[in-house]
Amino acid sequence: MTDSVPARATHTVLVVDNDEFSAELAEVLLHDIGVGQVVLASDGYAALELLDSGLAPDVLFLDLDMEGMDGVEVLRFLASRRYEGALALMTGSGHQLVASVQRMALASHLRIVGTVQKPLHRDKFAAVLDEVVRGGQRRSGHESAPLQPDEIRAGLERGAIELYVQPKVTVRTREVRGGEVLLRWRGEDGSLVSPLAVIPVAEECGLIATITKTVYAMTVQEMSSWRALGWNPLISVNVSAVDLLDLEFPRWLAETADTAGVESRSIVLEVTESQIVEHLSSTLDVVSRLYLNGFRFSIDDFGTGYSNFEQLKQLPLSELKIDRSLVVGATQDSAGRAILASSIQLGHALNVRVVAEGVETLEDWALLDALGCDVIQGYFVARPMPISTFFSWRTEWVHSHRDPTAS
Ligand code: C2E
Ligand code: CA
Ligand code: CA
Repeated sequence: MTDSVPARATHTVLVVDNDEFSAELAEVLLHDIGVGQVVLASDGYAALELLDSGLAPDVLFLDLDMEGMDGVEVLRFLASRRYEGALALMTGSGHQLVASVQRMALASHLRIVGTVQKPLHRDKFAAVLDEVVRGGQRRSGHESAPLQPDEIRAGLERGAIELYVQPKVTVRTREVRGGEVLLRWRGEDGSLVSPLAVIPVAEECGLIATITKTVYAMTVQEMSSWRALGWNPLISVNVSAVDLLDLEFPRWLAETADTAGVESRSIVLEVTESQIVEHLSSTLDVVSRLYLNGFRFSIDDFGTGYSNFEQLKQLPLSELKIDRSLVVGATQDSAGRAILASSIQLGHALNVRVVAEGVETLEDWALLDALGCDVIQGYFVARPMPISTFFSWRTEWVHSHRDPTAS
């Protein structure tokens, strides 16, 4: 890892620890391994103030065992501010606490790059910093940078939107119940760009409605061609909460489906839990109209948005989609399994179908089956595929009678 050491001189590190001795030791050790700038904060408030004033550390080392605003509370604050920087936990506590904090962090999309167990040692800090450098290389290699609003406008004119679809399979019968449509963006150079580089920008610059409508119109065309072949799968389309502020949206969706000869009850609209909770009162009107028009409604990324039973009960839901982070967490320890089990129970208490996403292994599948999950989506069944291949994929799935629990 010698090649990552020179980078450390340019690194800024923030250490949040209320124990003066431990904070100063961390500072000495970090300087010792070549870190250029070390900033100390004696509690969570001081840390948040530093971040608010523009400090952008390459890593934030956070002590979990503080009094006052403790480490977990600091993580909550960071999550609510959508903090994107690298985080490392410091703790003298055991594995259980670290595992449950990591799970919470994963669910809130915080980026934990490592843990430093006390007593502190320079090698433990060095390992975290190496991971930050590696992570930076991975991200710059594989993730698409966000597009500019002008690039999105030009792309929409050029026809940059392509549709992929990922199957959703009923656990008990292994039937292909349908699929989720996922946007792909064809860059000018022919590369395939992730929706994560497009959707958030489009939501901010007022282009999301055009994207949603384009995806939807292309989707119902495909559905109409499957219908002609005698297949009527349940197809999910992602919509943004911004779409649900437009009172005309339900009528447009219904008319577009109708023109293509597709029934609205074959269409599921997925909205993320965090977005729907944030805009619950302003979107309820449109959500009810969609329901009256026959559309089905699904809460996406469930487990990441702090909704409660009362809020969910107000919505005419037909599906709860459990976030990948809960599925990943469940195979790691019993606390994770308990969280997953209670999420599935919550869905059934609401009388809706429960879908688990991000199912990658046979172990995941078996656990979800045992916990009574209804539908599964994930790499274990299939990766997202170009929508034009979905029909033949499904034919093959049916013919092979694939039993994923058989070896
Ligand atoms: P999502 O709605 O939660 O979609 C599931 C994402 O998880 C997809 O990423 C899918 O490729 C990925 N995935 C599926 N199975 C597995 C698995 O087993 N393991 C792992 N590690 N990942 C898996 P994708 O296609 O990159 O989409 C990312 C997000 O972009 C979507 O998350 C959704 O929020 C958003 N998105 C995609 N298409 C649209 C769209 O047309 N409109 C809107 N508003 N958002 C979209
Ligand atoms: Ca989704
Ligand atoms: Ca999801």
